[in-house]
Amino acid sequence: MAPRSRRRRHKKSPSSVAPVVETPPTVVAPVPLNLAKPGPSIDTLGFFCLENNVPGLSQLILQKLNMKSYEEYKLVLDGGTPVSGFGYRCLEEMFQKMEDTFQFCAYCKALPSGLSDSKVLRHCKRCRNVYYCDPECQRSDWPTHRKVCQELRLVAVDRRVMVLETLMLFKKKKKGTEWDRGITSYSFFPAGDFVLPSGPWSWLTEVVQGWDTWFSMRRLQLDDTLDAVLESQAMTTLWASVRRPRPDPDVLKGSLKRLLTDVLSRPLTLGFGLRALGINVGKVGGSTVHVVGASHAETFLTRPGDYDELGYMFPGHLGFHIIMVGVDVAAGFSQSTSASLLEPGTVQISGHRGLYHDFWEEQIETGQIAHPDLVVAFHPGFHASPDLMEAWLPTLLLLRDYEIPTMITVYSHQELAASLQILVDLDTHITAYGANPFASLKPEQVYSNPNKQPVYCSAYYIMFLGSSCQLDKRQLEEKVNGRV
Ligand SMILES: [Zn+2]
Ligand SMILES: [Zn+2]
Repeated sequence: MAPRSRRRRHKKSPSSVAPVVETPPTVVAPVPLNLAKPGPSIDTLGFFCLENNVPGLSQLILQKLNMKSYEEYKLVLDGGTPVSGFGYRCLEEMFQKMEDTFQFCAYCKALPSGLSDSKVLRHCKRCRNVYYCDPECQRSDWPTHRKVCQELRLVAVDRRVMVLETLMLFKKKKKGTEWDRGITSYSFFPAGDFVLPSGPWSWLTEVVQGWDTWFSMRRLQLDDTLDAVLESQAMTTLWASVRRPRPDPDVLKGSLKRLLTDVLSRPLTLGFGLRALGINVGKVGGSTVHVVGASHAETFLTRPGDYDELGYMFPGHLGFHIIMVGVDVAAGFSQSTSASLLEPGTVQISGHRGLYHDFWEEQIETGQIAHPDLVVAFHPGFHASPDLMEAWLPTLLLLRDYEIPTMITVYSHQELAASLQILVDLDTHITAYGANPFASLKPEQVYSNPNKQPVYCSAYYIMFLGSSCQLDKRQLEEKVNGRV
């Protein structure tokens, strides 16, 4: 066990310096990445933030992934081929190594290398998601851990189901097949595709206001798909490989549904924004949405078909062009941002690697592409640190001054309050904010601080349009005049 002084220090150690959800330790990390921002690479910042809470953790991750350096890790995230012996001989080895990266004492933060020979880290029997070096640490941690134990149990199931999904997608990507348009199936498993529900909505779009109604509408299609996945050989292989008891079918179905909401949260949140801001999607030539501060979370494993659901939300639309802009946009993500007119009813996705205000100067001010109808930033995180705020400021001011309808999303209520305050201070005219009806339902654990309340991607939204200054000026003048 770690010395007392160290324990106390770490117990108090605030993770406020760290982004809410840190770079996850998965092999190919498709998990929503914390803060996408237009400045210096946020992926890098996130990775090294792990050290704030658990010293030595970033090195452990690299070691378990058979990688020599962070640069190599980033290279793989960007879709490159690592130089050293990245990869695993079999599924068992992969799951074991991955699980190893979660092994540190949730209470005293000791890593396996810091334990005396007679000790091993053991997981909490209820959630199977956090580890302790001994019963004393577990007992001391329980008052804190009990608040999240049940939710972390879901996280643990989702993590395992998702690894396989990711692995299959990653393999496919490597073969270079998935960029083809029109692919609507998700290769969760080698022995069968997990088909995303597709095709026009059978209900009136106004009726589908959130996940409840969405799931009711897609029920028949989903039931078949989920049953097929549960019966697949791959699902059996998965649980044999992780050497854990296979959860009940209902638990697994719940997990698959949560992962589904995680995939579809982004396109449906865009749709929610378009709807809430009353944006006309019947524009000849199509409507344009910019996703600002996009990182590889939005681009690495994203395939064109993933955004089809946005199209189905607006029957009769004349085309959507979604442009992902950010310094962490995955290499090789479609770079075409041409202004060509869209076919009615199609959804086109492309990416631009760079800062948004540069993109604006080069592409929009020069008239190469149209002004956006909506700008969305998923988890910009400018509330989290002065550095991030500085990076976001030019973009926020630009969006405000050009009066572009803008929506941002955040992970938690706390972040909502902090972000609102910043936007108010910047004199943006906030038109709406609240809980997002299409938030991801998959709980996200704060990796290096598992006892923090799990958060959900795009849990809340804020919309703003232009500046509130003019109003203030007028009010001010009225005041002044009144006095005279
Ligand atoms: Zn401990
Ligand atoms: Zn637990």
